Amino acid sequence: MTAGTSPDARAASPAPRTPPPDERAFEANLALRNLDALRLECALGVVMVPSFWALDWFVIPDAVWVTLWIRLLCTLCGAALLLARAWRPEWLARHVGPLSVGFSLLVAWSIALMCFLHEGYESPYYAGINLLVLCVGLLFSWRTGTAVRFVLGIYLFYMGPLLLGLLTIRDVPAVLTNQFFLLSTMVVTVASQHHRRRLERREFESQAAQQRLLAEVQQMATTDALTGLHNRRQFFKLGEDEIERARRYRHPISVLMLDIDHFKAVNDNYGHSVGDQVLAATARRMLAALRRSDIAGRYGGEEFAMVLPETDAVAAAQVVGERLREAIAGLPVDTSAGPLRLTVSVGVARVRTGRESLLDALTRADAALYAAKRAGRNQVMRAPDPDDA
Ligand code: GH3
Ligand code: MG
Ligand code: MG
Repeated sequence: MTAGTSPDARAASPAPRTPPPDERAFEANLALRNLDALRLECALGVVMVPSFWALDWFVIPDAVWVTLWIRLLCTLCGAALLLARAWRPEWLARHVGPLSVGFSLLVAWSIALMCFLHEGYESPYYAGINLLVLCVGLLFSWRTGTAVRFVLGIYLFYMGPLLLGLLTIRDVPAVLTNQFFLLSTMVVTVASQHHRRRLERREFESQAAQQRLLAEVQQMATTDALTGLHNRRQFFKLGEDEIERARRYRHPISVLMLDIDHFKAVNDNYGHSVGDQVLAATARRMLAALRRSDIAGRYGGEEFAMVLPETDAVAAAQVVGERLREAIAGLPVDTSAGPLRLTVSVGVARVRTGRESLLDALTRADAALYAAKRAGRNQVMRAPDPDDA
């Protein structure tokens, strides 16, 4: 028998494990925050960008109609993103990164254009770019590389006319002042983005560690460590729920008790560690022979209990019970002491939903199990149904 084909090699893990958190989960978490940040930036832009038009009347009265168009363009883009948030939230969530960079660049470039329309590099309108860069630094959580490319994109656009010889500098102290404040704001924003991302990663990792710990504790509280089956408490909890469902919808449901025959002899002859291997292999074979909707638990030492929804007592005994018995008796179990032949005895009872609890039904199945033991072991017995009497 090879490991690949052995039913003993099948993993028995009834309780699902949470996947480990990774980079994608971290990014997805940040994308949600950036989505909220984009909404806030757009709302601020839609209100503030047109309001500043009042200032244009005093500062650049000759160009107010040009600045109106520039401001309208930004306002309409902000409004369109707000509408997309309401109507196409999935699309916006998928593209939140490029959209937030794009919208922020649009506003920054439009302010730069207004600087060019005013006094060029002497214009105090550069403060608008500062405000925008600070706003981005406060609202968004970007990769450091994105933040660097963003501020470079703004700065190169702002300096473009000078580099191309389209604008000249007349008042060096005023231009230097503007440049110092603009560049400092950009450096502070990139540094704060870098710092914020580190803090967010630390927070995310500690939350992920807590979730892993919680999942581990839940797993330990509900699972039998040796066999991977539900422990007795969890088995009763899930089983009672299933019986309640069967009672409500008047569906058949049965329980099954399984006990390894002469298991003490395994321990006595080969030691407890081999006994443990037999228990784990038996549990794996049981799981392989059951439906996914069946509930299997370790009831006691080498006794296992099962709840079989949608199964009447005849099917539970003749189909499931026999399948379990054959799954274990049909093939020797691989252990460190070599292959061991084992048999099991099985007791089955129909649950009289509404009249008896899971424990009552298991008690009747247990009586059937001991009848099977007395009758010679390696067999399935059905408990008499008191309703048939
Ligand atoms: P029967 O056919 O009548 O069921 O005989 P048996 O020997 O299987 O029954 P008995 O109840 O006398 O023995 C059960 C044994 O299971 C006794 C106990 O030491 C052993 N056992 C219980 N829990 C564990 C466990 O976790 N690991 C191991 N290796 N043995 C266990
Ligand atoms: Mg036994
Ligand atoms: Mg026993």
